[in-house]
Amino acid sequence: MEITECDLFVIGGGSGGVRAARMAAQRGARVVLAEAAALGGTCVNVGCIPKKLYSYAAHFAQEIEDAAGFGWSIAEPAFDWDRLKANRAREILRLNGVYEKLLVGAGVELVRGWAEPVAATQVKVATESRDRLFKARHILVATGGTPTVPFFPGCELVVSSDSMFDLDPFPARLLVVGGGYIACEFASIFNGLGAKVTQLYRGARVLRGFDDDIRVFIEQEMRKHGVELHTSADVRSIEKTAHGLRAHLTDGRTVLADTVLYATGRVPNVNGLGLEAVGVKQGKDGAIVVDELYRTSVPSIHAIGDVTSRVQLTPVALGEAMALVDHLFGDGKRKMGYDFIPTAVFTHPNIATVGMTEAQAREKFGKVTVFRSEFSPLKNTLSGSKERTLMKLVVDSASDRVVGLHMVGPDAGEVVQGFAVALKAGATKAVFDATIGIHPTAAEEFVTMR
Ligand code: FAD
Ligand code: NDP
Repeated sequence: MEITECDLFVIGGGSGGVRAARMAAQRGARVVLAEAAALGGTCVNVGCIPKKLYSYAAHFAQEIEDAAGFGWSIAEPAFDWDRLKANRAREILRLNGVYEKLLVGAGVELVRGWAEPVAATQVKVATESRDRLFKARHILVATGGTPTVPFFPGCELVVSSDSMFDLDPFPARLLVVGGGYIACEFASIFNGLGAKVTQLYRGARVLRGFDDDIRVFIEQEMRKHGVELHTSADVRSIEKTAHGLRAHLTDGRTVLADTVLYATGRVPNVNGLGLEAVGVKQGKDGAIVVDELYRTSVPSIHAIGDVTSRVQLTPVALGEAMALVDHLFGDGKRKMGYDFIPTAVFTHPNIATVGMTEAQAREKFGKVTVFRSEFSPLKNTLSGSKERTLMKLVVDSASDRVVGLHMVGPDAGEVVQGFAVALKAGATKAVFDATIGIHPTAAEEFVTMR
């Protein structure tokens, strides 16, 4: 078989892989990227982008209700699920094309097919027409992750987040199992779109790892919005009946639904990659083990993003890609910092956070000062909406440094992104206090808390 040589072979055209391929090609490296499905990976096709579009769609229900207090009369609103699906599909197709143009424009050779490393510097790709063999100085595995569903009687009847964007028909009754990002986001979104949503979480409080005040607050707000949220609840079995899917819970209750979404985590995409054969060390669920330079146990093979099962966020995969390329083909100065990574959960209302929870800060610093503000946003004085906003600052008392910043409220992600720069730069509470607010906004609360 003919062998094509390159400097970098990237397996996976998602967030991390595409960024690495483009950056390396722009630095003059000969780059080949293999993608087995649609370009853009999870984020573009079944993750961040379609999810946020559907979240916008769901927010309109609230906006239409809110408009009445501002003098607007809107005739009986009607929601067309098929139109939303079609518009989303068109936009995603456009983005797939944009990704292809960016890669090809940067000089990357794009190969469509399933790729697997067959030796420390060799990759085989099964394309539609034939198998191809590549010899690469460096191989990058950026194959992402995939949803995982536990095994139980009736588990074949449930769906994962991958299927939620194209459900047919719209589920009038949706049961969501899980209490993480995806479960809370999809419960909020489908509730906003008009489904009757029941969410079950096995623990005492959703969103493990987030600040406790945020967790308590979002549960209240989601319930206020109409999500029927049960904590300390789990499914024993599911059966198909003439009235829909009947879930039997461990406490003896039953829930009837048209669709059951299991959002119980994601595992690295490593099946069929033959990593064991080439000697790449793997950890829990097959996650590829890497060092601080994203090197696996085989020095010519690297891995970034969800396949390493660390922080599963698009900007983290992008940051890792840029640090790796700088190390392989640049001056190696660029480093990926894992502290103060901001993140948002697109629940209704949104959550955004950066830095430590109050509990983490107490454990690390001992004495911390907490500033907390809960209020009804100005807009709700006329809209009549009962939704409230929560903002919280956690300050290390000894140094006065703000080490945690948390928000639940409209556009929390937009607000917190800017404050993440301040926290990363080491801003103290005194700097926050000396900053002039923008009035009237919710964000100004972060610089006026005393
Ligand atoms: P991916 O983007 O998953 O890309 C991997 C690619 O590799 C895929 O295209 C796959 O087809 C391809 N591939 C796999 N194996 C092979 C092979 N052997 N040969 C060829 N190709 C292969 N993150 C955020 O920051 N914000 C959000 O709002 C957000 N929302 C999300 C919502 C949902 C529902 C989900 C599921 C995830 C969300 N994420 C979000 C997480 C984010 O999508 C991931 O962290 C990110 O996509 C990881 O990028 P990656 O490059 O590691 O992998
Ligand atoms: P998460 O790990 O965030 O949450 C999984 C949830 O499922 C947890 O509540 C977990 O409970 C529960 N769970 C796990 N196993 C079982 C089981 N066997 N039975 C019942 N419940 C179970 O995973 P997600 O799937 O929600 O999302 C995966 C990742 O994708 C996220 O961690 C995030 O990094 C990324 N993402 C980011 C988004 C964003 O940035 N807005 C949006 C969506 C995803 P417990 O807490 O008890 O373990």
